[in-house]
Amino acid sequence: TVRTRIAPSPTGDPHVGTAYIALFNLCFARQHQGQFILRIEDTDQQRSTRESEQQIFDSLRWLGLEWDEGPDVGGPHGPYRQSERRELYAGYAQELLDKGKAFKCYRTPEELDELRRERQLAGKSTALKPSDLYLPDDEVARREAAGAPYVVRMLVPEEEGACVIDDLLRGRIELDWGMVDAQILLKSDGMPTYHLANVVDDHLMEITHVLRGEEWINSAPKHKLLYEYFGWQMPVLCHLPLLRNPDKSKLSKRKNPTSITFYQRMGYLPQAVINYLGRMGWSMPDEREKFSLDEMIAHFDISRVSLGGPVFDVEKLSWLNGVYLREDLSDEQFIAELMKWAFNSDYVRQIIPQLRPRVETLSDVAPLAAFFFSGLPKLQKSDFLALGMEEEALVELLQFLVWEMDALRDWNKDGIMACVKALSEQAGLKMKAYLQPVFLAVSGSTSSTSVLDAMVILGPDMSRARLRHALD
Ligand code: ATP
Ligand code: GLU
Repeated sequence: TVRTRIAPSPTGDPHVGTAYIALFNLCFARQHQGQFILRIEDTDQQRSTRESEQQIFDSLRWLGLEWDEGPDVGGPHGPYRQSERRELYAGYAQELLDKGKAFKCYRTPEELDELRRERQLAGKSTALKPSDLYLPDDEVARREAAGAPYVVRMLVPEEEGACVIDDLLRGRIELDWGMVDAQILLKSDGMPTYHLANVVDDHLMEITHVLRGEEWINSAPKHKLLYEYFGWQMPVLCHLPLLRNPDKSKLSKRKNPTSITFYQRMGYLPQAVINYLGRMGWSMPDEREKFSLDEMIAHFDISRVSLGGPVFDVEKLSWLNGVYLREDLSDEQFIAELMKWAFNSDYVRQIIPQLRPRVETLSDVAPLAAFFFSGLPKLQKSDFLALGMEEEALVELLQFLVWEMDALRDWNKDGIMACVKALSEQAGLKMKAYLQPVFLAVSGSTSSTSVLDAMVILGPDMSRARLRHALD
């Protein structure tokens, strides 16, 4: 049976690219009456968090993308979280060491830099080969005795020449062995790298088809070698085109919001987002623009994926979403969606303390609270300049804040406050003066509820998007 998977790393906001790849894996599996698996690739312990993992679960479920096996639903091939499979990878690395297909490398970072420099000077690629990394036995023994840290690296061909990869969509791809380095498989702390863990897990989880972003094509030669070394059958590979910004560059949050939760927060319907993602490089046989997930599954055909980079255009998504709101929902359903979205008591309860001290009648509530229920405010440069700051200083203030807010992991008032305080001191501004343009960007006006509380309530996606929008 066909088994596909999505293997996100829980290191940030749930990416629309993850949903797009998940959608195609799900359709392919369902079309073949197969299974779709969710595996969490959290071997990077510095950057992986449980919150991010939970957001991946929540946002994929919000979109209606359900998996048959995964960390939260279990299954016969678990655990489905790589951090819980740690010992397993060390065993497979040992197997490759025993077979002579991998070697312990005691080279220091300084030596590695030097080796790369030497290769460059010799006009070669900077991909370090086993021969570059070689150390005489007595030197290895010396470093080993001194307890020096080591990594396990894989053997790769020394010479140039073609590595042929078969891709379901692209056919025969030739990659140059010369560019393939002696990849680290096990880090000095005993954690596997992506390459080892990914291959071991795809094999053990009996994945038959790997549909993933084209950014992984260059990793395919390493994976092919690993499958050969282990004597395993390699799954069928299929590299999907990456989503692009309207200017054709790779979709990036500097140019387009990339977090699924942002679209949820903006009031897009999940069925519209899924429909739109389904049109990324794919079309229905009858070319109709509007279709449901079930319809997509019923008509799915991977060979209809076109390789030109699909453009993720928020304006087109908005248009499609409008069609759904107008045509697909009864009044009752419309009300239900609205309530679910933000007119629910959980959300309103957070807002009320901000309003109560500032209202005299209930009718004062709507104008004061409007920005809690809207998208990106329409602001002019002149609105900001009216605050009396120099344009250059304003841009710098907002840009620095965007960077800090992007890096802020725990979204709470203390965390935001600490950033703002540090930045305002750096800018030589009183907190109050500093916060004026921030409030304008976040709320669209200069009236005064607390901006920090507002940012907490609006959440990271919407707050960051509004700050970034102010810079446009
Ligand atoms: P950004 O540049 O916006 O920070 P990123 O490339 O850093 O994005 P990652 O965190 O590396 O994003 O990727 C998260 C997931 O989303 C990965 O699984 C990656 O394959 C997928 N992804 C990222 N960008 C795209 C894209 N343009 N198209 C499809 N999938 C993508
Ligand atoms: N963990 C990788 C990612 O974040 C998985 C890539 C793959 O599908 O092999 O995209």
